[in-house]
Amino acid sequence: GKAPESAELALEWLASHNNTFGHHINGSWVKGKEHFASNNPATGQELAQVAQADDKIVQKAVNAANKALPDWQALSGHQRGQYLYAIARLIQKNSRLFAVLETLDNGKPIRESRDIDVPLAVRHFYHHAGWAQLLDTEFPDHQAIGVVGQIIPWNFPLLMLAWKIAPALATGNTVVIKPAEFTSLTALLFAEICEQAGLPKGVLNVVTGDGRTGQHIVNHPEIKKIAFTGSTAVGRWIRQATAGSGKKLSLELGGKSAFIVCADADLDAAVEGVVDAIWFNQGQVCCAGSRLLVQEAVADRFHDKLISRMNKLRVGDPLDKSIDMGAIIDPRQQQKIATLVQAGVDAGASLNQSSVELPENGCFYPPTLLTDVSPSDQVVQDEIFGPVLVSMTFRTPSEAVALANNSRYGLAASIWSENINLAMHLAPLVQAGVVWINCTNQFDAAAGFGGVKESGFGREGGKEGLFEYLKNKPGKSPAKVTAK
Ligand code: NAD
Repeated sequence: GKAPESAELALEWLASHNNTFGHHINGSWVKGKEHFASNNPATGQELAQVAQADDKIVQKAVNAANKALPDWQALSGHQRGQYLYAIARLIQKNSRLFAVLETLDNGKPIRESRDIDVPLAVRHFYHHAGWAQLLDTEFPDHQAIGVVGQIIPWNFPLLMLAWKIAPALATGNTVVIKPAEFTSLTALLFAEICEQAGLPKGVLNVVTGDGRTGQHIVNHPEIKKIAFTGSTAVGRWIRQATAGSGKKLSLELGGKSAFIVCADADLDAAVEGVVDAIWFNQGQVCCAGSRLLVQEAVADRFHDKLISRMNKLRVGDPLDKSIDMGAIIDPRQQQKIATLVQAGVDAGASLNQSSVELPENGCFYPPTLLTDVSPSDQVVQDEIFGPVLVSMTFRTPSEAVALANNSRYGLAASIWSENINLAMHLAPLVQAGVVWINCTNQFDAAAGFGGVKESGFGREGGKEGLFEYLKNKPGKSPAKVTAK
């Protein structure tokens, strides 16, 4: 059982498309004009040619979404729910294909794509199928916004797609979505799945391309809502570009989440928490616990335990079921990580890097811990988006809160203490969209997720997330709706 998962299933699917993809608009494939390569980051090998959508292709997708809108909105929530159930079941049925394809395209360990990305995406569709059925009774004064534009990042390609598409469809919107240029393949497979599920033509349209395609979506006047997950820099541009347009906006952006270890914490459990917080998905996680804050009295002991655990992490072939860390998405991202770490070292940080042997080809970076850093250092303030943890110490709980809040981001935080009163006291003082206690990276389709400060605004998931895709029905004053 130690053999790597076979790539065959995914390679066959790619070959069935001659390894060349167009866009998926109005329920069928539309040939692309220009293409670019989508590579396997673990080997550098090309997987497929993916199309770059220009403004005409985006217009075609918007036309299809507009045309599909009246019939889709006229369905009862119950009927729309049936489609979401069908999509969930078909992802489940094809879960191995989705997992292998995701791992090939993104470089994440197969264990993660199989046990986390795919099941959570499925759960998101089941959950929202339920909401679709409740819409008519729970949201009688609300209706869909219309055609929505969705732009997603490369770190959780299928899962971020599910977070975007499931609530949009449940509430009766039609969608134009653009996956990230590094990871378009599971989105294209998903489009085929929707065809199989019998989703009416034009309800979902997938266009591929880089940031230029994203700009066409953001600027399109007939798109009434933009849902974006990605970097704070692009989020800021989108906010400026849509100012005054009347478009509704939700932004899920970067983070530099604090991981607070109090002296009375269960240190071994906290070490495992750190592994999950910063080395899950090679640290390419928006809510990664990338700033360790550990109480002075236990700092040395905790660092020793952490370093010995870090040195045991297995880095390598993402298709190998026994590895802990796979490949970084792209050589440029790898270079960015290396540059930021060097800047940290130049500023006086101590570098602790796992001596694990890295595969020769492909894009790998070792698990890394930087100690002896100061709160204002670039490595402490900037999101690295890689397997790099910075660590500082604190004396008192209030100092921990001050350090945690000394960030322009506010996506998540995690507090470790065996004194639940202390943890419950600290949690609301930390400025973050979510604060986990004695755990980390807990997600559920029923819980709204999102940030404060420069981590963005709007929530995805749960009842809160539905409001991002709804507007008041005409004739219903907002006051009346609020009073309900
Ligand atoms: P990115 O901002 O470079 O790209 C995200 C998406 O936006 C891609 O699809 C890209 O093609 C597109 N894009 C780029 N320029 C654009 C423009 N001018 N207009 C419209 N679209 C444009 O981010 P990334 O490098 O793909 O992803 C990493 C970032 O995403 C990190 O900062 C991470 O924290 C963040 N992220 C946040 C969450 C969250 O829920 N808050 C989740 C995952 C990732």
